[in-house]
Amino acid sequence: MKIAITVDELILWAGTPMPPRYTASTVLDGMLRALGEHRVEGVYGFAHTSPVADRPGEREILERWCAAGHHLGNHTHHHACLNWVGARRYCDDVRQAEDVLGDLLEAAPTRYFRHAMDMTGPSEVRRGEVEDFLRAEGYTTAPITAWFGDFAWTAPYARAVHTGDRDAAAMLRTSFVEAAVARLHAHAETGRRLFGADLPLIWLVHGTALAQDVLGEILQRFVDEAVEFIPLDDAMRHPVHRVHSPATPLFRNHLERIALASGDEVAAPPPEAMAQVLMSGLPEGEDPMADYDAILRRIVDRVGGTWNWSWA
Ligand SMILES: [Zn+2]
Repeated sequence: MKIAITVDELILWAGTPMPPRYTASTVLDGMLRALGEHRVEGVYGFAHTSPVADRPGEREILERWCAAGHHLGNHTHHHACLNWVGARRYCDDVRQAEDVLGDLLEAAPTRYFRHAMDMTGPSEVRRGEVEDFLRAEGYTTAPITAWFGDFAWTAPYARAVHTGDRDAAAMLRTSFVEAAVARLHAHAETGRRLFGADLPLIWLVHGTALAQDVLGEILQRFVDEAVEFIPLDDAMRHPVHRVHSPATPLFRNHLERIALASGDEVAAPPPEAMAQVLMSGLPEGEDPMADYDAILRRIVDRVGGTWNWSWA
């Protein structure tokens, strides 16, 4: 199995729960160490840039990523979903990210763009307007064809570390690694069913506290399962990453959208396993998705968009 590793949100969305003593800087250190140990070079990071506008000192995170031999693509400024705003507002957000990234974006060998949440909007018309703009600006859209819903661990892990619940923290680290492996296989199997051959996959991990702690373990598990790490440019040569998957307002990645339109799907994680993660350390009666809804609502408010979201 061949995969191109990509890292989104080197600085996480405003309001994302973090355990004490974890920062974007410590997460970066952990991820750079893990990538270095496995000799994975030239990884593309897709970081929305509003955190840097809010705290200019954090541009250092992005600079350090590039200084380590990795690259940056454009991932919009606010990370607003194309379901929430019109094409023009979305394209303005792409330009605003350019203002922040500047030379760091220009230094990348290929000018990549990744849609916020890898969602391409509710209609072909809106997506098309954005894609025309991106093409005119010299961007290539890099989709996601393998992911494991890693953000779902952020609040439970912050709770576990904060309260010193070592058993919960260990359970979350283990389930995070297992989910990364299982979901990679699930995407690969779907790709095989849909296309009758092994696809090179574009794999995503976010810059979370758990990535700091166990990205190295995940990469080692991948190596143990004969995964070969390839450059994003190589994965992008496969037509699966060049076609436009049918538009859907649902929260689905590129491969999942193709599967959806084909009457197939990427096997979901076992509901009881996800419930164990989401409910870990959660006070009685609280909504496990409340933290994540609040993050998205903050983004909608900042861009003046229309709230329209379902986790289903
Ligand atoms: Zn993102």
